[in-house]
Amino acid sequence: MQIKRLEIVGFKSFVDRVSLDFNEGIAAVVGPNGCGKSNILDAIRWVMGEQSAKKLRGRSMEDVIFGGSETRKPVGMAEVSMIFSNEQGLGPPAIRDYPEIMVTRRLYRNGDSEYRLNKTPCRLLDITELFMDTGVGARAYSIIEQGKIGMILNAKPEDRRFLIEEAAGISKFKARKQSALRKIDATRQNLLRLRDIISEVR
Ligand code: ATP
Repeated sequence: MQIKRLEIVGFKSFVDRVSLDFNEGIAAVVGPNGCGKSNILDAIRWVMGEQSAKKLRGRSMEDVIFGGSETRKPVGMAEVSMIFSNEQGLGPPAIRDYPEIMVTRRLYRNGDSEYRLNKTPCRLLDITELFMDTGVGARAYSIIEQGKIGMILNAKPEDRRFLIEEAAGISKFKARKQSALRKIDATRQNLLRLRDIISEVR
């Protein structure tokens, strides 16, 4: 799986549409302080489903929408699309056979948001499941920023285990187990309620 292209519009400092092509090998983003290098990483994290504004260096999620500059008015929507090659056959059956996948996230200032897989609306869960166990998710080990190596070395064993589980490919099953346990619990509650009703009407 390789990122091929990133398309950004209205996201942080990128008010106009910008398209960044990533070729094979190492890509380096260079530029003066404050030109938007870290905003590109934020865009990658955001499109992969990051839900914490703090992790994107903001106070609220609205902070990712271009908020205006000396010469430009604020805009009402941020959109990021990430196109990557899909030799692993990732994703739900409808897109598994496509050689490339495009993931899109949009946020409007009124709080409405949208996720798309190959231009078809989908749920956030579809996006997070897509990246789970690939090591590439919003919180996975693919983005190693300043200080992260030190953090991993000094982490508690339980926290470090999270990275190992992601690399071993069992995160997806742990998440599904949690979701199944929640459903079992809800069903148990329903059964209890049903038993009460049955004993009342008898
Ligand atoms: P450094 O080399 O200092 O780490 P950088 O190139 O990584 O800098 P970024 O942190 O990516 O720079 O970009 C910072 C710039 O992005 C600032 O000028 C900031 O005003 C601008 N910026 C961030 N969020 C928004 C927003 N919502 N609207 C407009 N501009 C924004």
